[in-house]
Amino acid sequence: MSLKLYNTLSRKKESFKPIKKGVVGIYGCGPTVYSHQHIGNLFRYVFEDYLIRILKYNNYKVKHVMNVTDVGHLTSDADVGEDKMEKAARKEGKKAKEIADYYLKLFRDDLKKLNIQEPNIWCKATEHIKEQIELIKRLEKKGYTYKTSDGIYFDTSKFKDYEKLAKLNIKGLQAGKRVKVKEKKNKTDFALWKFSEKPGVRQQEWNSPWGIGFPGWHIECSAMSMKYLGETFDIHTGGEDHISVHHPNEIAQSEAATGKKFVNYWLHSRWLLFKGEKMSKSRGGIYILSELEKKEFNPLEYRYLCLTTHYRKQLNFSLDTLKKAQIAYKRLKNIISEISNDKKINEKYLKAFDSAINDDLNMPVALQILWKLVRDEKAKGKINTIKKMDEVFGLDLLKKEKIEISKELGKLIRERETARKNKDWDEADKIREKINKLGYSLKDTKAGTRVEKL
Ligand code: AMP
Ligand code: ZN
Repeated sequence: MSLKLYNTLSRKKESFKPIKKGVVGIYGCGPTVYSHQHIGNLFRYVFEDYLIRILKYNNYKVKHVMNVTDVGHLTSDADVGEDKMEKAARKEGKKAKEIADYYLKLFRDDLKKLNIQEPNIWCKATEHIKEQIELIKRLEKKGYTYKTSDGIYFDTSKFKDYEKLAKLNIKGLQAGKRVKVKEKKNKTDFALWKFSEKPGVRQQEWNSPWGIGFPGWHIECSAMSMKYLGETFDIHTGGEDHISVHHPNEIAQSEAATGKKFVNYWLHSRWLLFKGEKMSKSRGGIYILSELEKKEFNPLEYRYLCLTTHYRKQLNFSLDTLKKAQIAYKRLKNIISEISNDKKINEKYLKAFDSAINDDLNMPVALQILWKLVRDEKAKGKINTIKKMDEVFGLDLLKKEKIEISKELGKLIRERETARKNKDWDEADKIREKINKLGYSLKDTKAGTRVEKL
């Protein structure tokens, strides 16, 4: 069955064909590690995770690269403002590297909790300064760059396809040419290298042929993706905010330098909203995963919530919708825990599932098919089919919850067993109530009594 993906470049669903048979190279724009990644950011990585799981499910070998922005991302995407890393380091009185290591570790912990598979290669901007300088030199040689008092800029008017991803209005772009933004020649031009205002003040700065400074935010993604995946590769992902600035800039730098097509398929996930607006650090109203855990949500309940919408639809987050996802997820796992394994596979349901996921990653429909399967009393092969589906969902659907049985709880369970053996049902019920008060419930199944958290 062929996999169809919506390519932002063509604004169409296309059949996916990798450059090399059976192998996929994929690059995802990663976190800027000056602060926590909030659950909006994580929504985007859950999307990238099921995309990769679906590629693997289709028997592709996947090489997944993700960058870590630890320098050069300014507080404004328009190449002005302060470097987010330097600002955080100053505020916290720490070294920029300490901040980066700290937040990267927290991010990786969150990925683990959400069953997001780690990329094959993590690459940090600060560890690829040489590659970025080399790329800027190539662009300089070809005449795409110019110098201002604060850095080396890319002249977007020299790259004829600049508008192809964002589908920017060409007339608007032309008009932009007349607008001088500081010393920029065109509104859309962007920094490749920024000079340190006063060398010696910034924590992170390097020598370059143009002076002491640091790379612009966009150049790292071109330099590192091409280093690890080649000058043309299969898939590039990001959030919808990258369609208008960051990704057109990546395309311009890469294609101007190599003369080749940079990426074949561009996939963008839409935003997680909070009260109708993009969840973002600058707007406030963000949640981080550990806060949800403190509110007794399991991270996989958040993953479940992410799967209830298509990645090209925005999702309005609230604790109420998360609560609904929690109830649904718990119910689903409970139903599954009572199904016995007949060692078969249910081809009919699996085929429907395959069509859904291969139709531009339609996870909400895939979830509906799973629900239909678990509720279908006549269906055979449920367990093995669920197991196969869970390779993509990543929801630990067959994993039994481990419950720590305290001494008190253990004693009550044994007492209830004795009461049941003696057919003292009143006593057994009283003990069950006590157990409920401790926050646990008991389920008597053919395989014995199971303890669950309420
Ligand atoms: P940053 O750490 O700011 O560079 O963002 C990391 C990634 O999260 C980027 O790919 C953004 O597009 C994405 N992102 C930021 N905010 C949201 C949001 N509210 N919903 C979904 N994705 C987001
Ligand atoms: Zn990027």
